[in-house]
Amino acid sequence: MFDLSTSDIKYLTGVGPQRAALLNKELGIYSMYDLLCYYPYKYVDRSRIYTIREIDGSMPYIQLKGEILGTELTGEGRGRRLIAHFSDGTGIVDLVWFQGIKYVVGKYKVHKEYIVFGKPAPFNGRFNIAHPDIDEVSELKLSTMGMQPYYNTTERMKRSFLNSRAIEQMMATLLAQISEPLPETLSPAILAENHLMPITDALRNIHFPANADLLRKAQYRLKFEELFYVQLNILRYARDRQWRYRGYVFGKVGEIFNTFYSQHLPFELTNAQKRVLKEIRRDLGSGRQMNRLLQGDVGSGKTLVALMSMLIALDNGYQACLMAPTEILANQHYDTICHFLQGMDIRVELLTGSVKGKRREAILAGLLAGEVHILIGTHALIEDTVHFASLGLAVIDEQHRFGVAQRSRLWAKNERPPHVLVMTATPIPRTLAMTLYGDLDVSVIDELPPGRKPIATIHQFDNHRESLYRSIRKQIDEGRQVYIVYPLVKESEKVDLKNVEEGYERICAAFPDCKVCKVHGQMKPADKDAQMQLFVSGTAQIMVATTVIEVGVNVPNASVMVIENAERFGLSQLHQLRGRVGRGADQSYCILVTGYKLAEDTRKRLEIMVRTNDGFEIAEADLKLRGPGDLEGTQQSGIAFDLKIADIARDGQLLQYVREVAQKVIDADPEGTMPENEILWRRLKALRKTNVNWAAIS
Ligand code: ADP
Ligand code: MG
Repeated sequence: MFDLSTSDIKYLTGVGPQRAALLNKELGIYSMYDLLCYYPYKYVDRSRIYTIREIDGSMPYIQLKGEILGTELTGEGRGRRLIAHFSDGTGIVDLVWFQGIKYVVGKYKVHKEYIVFGKPAPFNGRFNIAHPDIDEVSELKLSTMGMQPYYNTTERMKRSFLNSRAIEQMMATLLAQISEPLPETLSPAILAENHLMPITDALRNIHFPANADLLRKAQYRLKFEELFYVQLNILRYARDRQWRYRGYVFGKVGEIFNTFYSQHLPFELTNAQKRVLKEIRRDLGSGRQMNRLLQGDVGSGKTLVALMSMLIALDNGYQACLMAPTEILANQHYDTICHFLQGMDIRVELLTGSVKGKRREAILAGLLAGEVHILIGTHALIEDTVHFASLGLAVIDEQHRFGVAQRSRLWAKNERPPHVLVMTATPIPRTLAMTLYGDLDVSVIDELPPGRKPIATIHQFDNHRESLYRSIRKQIDEGRQVYIVYPLVKESEKVDLKNVEEGYERICAAFPDCKVCKVHGQMKPADKDAQMQLFVSGTAQIMVATTVIEVGVNVPNASVMVIENAERFGLSQLHQLRGRVGRGADQSYCILVTGYKLAEDTRKRLEIMVRTNDGFEIAEADLKLRGPGDLEGTQQSGIAFDLKIADIARDGQLLQYVREVAQKVIDADPEGTMPENEILWRRLKALRKTNVNWAAIS
């Protein structure tokens, strides 16, 4: 048997160099094996043949058997079309082509028997079928079998008649050539224990299922395999890292922590905070390097948990640092933490891009001498000039702004990597966290501090400006502050900026007695900070902004978040924005303003926002509505991955199960030397090599 994975697709009968080039470019299909792994996105039951008399207006795809009575060409230019009158003796339908007319004309003959497949639509008192699939009855072994596969193709491919049907034909040709079983890609033990179909059967049935049951089994086998290797990859990597990186042991919880806890902590910790702190303490004392993702909704008190974890590092004679994605956030953390630690003998310093000259030198020297205990800052912390005496714990706030590469640069700051705690307010559904951050352990703060009033979320159409302004006015009269946020998308930047400017003008006109500030990403950083500061200090009552305020800014006095063009934001972004209010004890509001006409998806998003404040529920819904590829954070961090057949939103249970299977393999064969697993390790190596995305994960 020749090796399909090294057989160029262009040598497959019916492909050739031109089609091969398209397949390479459009679908990334280079070898015959690649083609086999290009799965259908749906199947249509073609087991039944309808009569023309039966057709009614509500039918999905159907097939008819009959002959073409005659054809006519009508229309001019773009309106030109070819019509074939098709009859099966019970009536007539019109088959219509708008494109590729020349090709069609030569192809089909009058009074020959064909099977026609397509979606009938009523037109001029008759039904017509536009761009039907047509097969000669004698050739139709394949599609009478029942389920017909449908493959995604691109516009470019369709223009060259490389449509779903063409791919189906290639697939049939290729499968017909396979006379012996293909090399298995899972080990015999895993196949047997999990009752999985052999790879050859799975590939045959995923393209041309003999029946629904076999299709299900084929899907299960291929999903299993896909998720299995993703998990094996992550777990293998995590395992290697554990071995390579022994962690500092923070054996004791000492005086600093205890003093803070008993004398400085202004309130009782929530149960969730206590639980998470326990998890962190256990990690820190375990002797292996901690890599923990701390998830918690905005306002759930992550900063405090981070601070107390840093105090444990200090108790054990180490330094700690906290890295934030923006200067403003770094400043805020610095203020908060200094405030918490007032009266304790702990030196906290702030290092950002704007700390320069003597001040900077002093901080760097203090750091190297071990006199600075806690360093807070931005990316400036990972610059080469920054050296710690003994960095024991690094906390990273708002994970998705930092890539994996940056995380590992922090490790390079020591001979041993510090413990790492990553905090994020973008809740990631558990299943996705497991797949994306398989090397991280996950802690969740799923409880808000007591006394918070849930934010009331309201959806309003944008022609109700007056009542909107009345609500804003009322809050301002009560001494509160208001955010008004506009979308800013790169593709439509000019229009968006114009909207922000107009919105700003409009607000200034509507609230002449108020100070209104304005912030967007196109401003110079210094101007931006100055405007931001106006709001933080309470000088400005209203801030008109783009999503630059999305991350972490804390103005407890702000009680209204107005989101203009809310239909253009994703769910998790809306949730993030909403989290900017509701930080104090007063009732806060989030007002989602949209146009009148809304797509179904958008309506759902808004409904979810109005219904719940629970970030995890929202993240789950987001995952279902948009699919993981679009999930916020996954793209920004450069960790994208591409599942061909499994669906994280729907196959969560299988994922969990498969993770256990992969874990067992690694536990039993930590060195990867057992002969019965050779297939697995070889396959993993091959996948790592070919799949660029995987490299990003590990
Ligand atoms: P996050 O970073 O998770 O969005 P913060 O750490 O900024 O949340 O906390 C939000 C606010 O809640 C802060 O003002 C903080 O002091 C306060 N806070 C944190 N923990 C508690 C608690 N257990 N009880 C009362 N208030 C708390
Ligand atoms: Mg925070």
